[in-house]
Amino acid sequence: MMEGWIMKNQEIKNEKAKGQNQDVLEKISGDKVVIDKEYCKGCALCVAYCPHGVLEMSEDINSSGYHYSVFKNKEKCTSCTYCAIVCPDACIEVYK
Ligand code: SF4
Ligand code: SF4
Repeated sequence: MMEGWIMKNQEIKNEKAKGQNQDVLEKISGDKVVIDKEYCKGCALCVAYCPHGVLEMSEDINSSGYHYSVFKNKEKCTSCTYCAIVCPDACIEVYK
């Protein structure tokens, strides 16, 4: 009985891990920097701190009325994570 429960539990864990791995793979295969534009307040700190001039502020605005940061010169990004560290609203994720 207990053995069956443990097996079932392990199967669920394996399934969840597969799903999480899939999420990670999708992110890795996409952009190195992912910006949640709806959380961006347009402070431009990430643009100022990026050492390689990768980020730019948008001409468009988000639903709160802010210009948001855009991952622009993608080939120059080194995944240094400075942009994510300085963002006060934690809306940047960086992938290697
Ligand atoms: S990870 Fe580094 S290089 Fe890439 S956009 Fe952010 S600050 Fe710039
Ligand atoms: S630091 Fe964060 S809040 Fe400020 S512009 Fe960049 S992404 Fe937006």
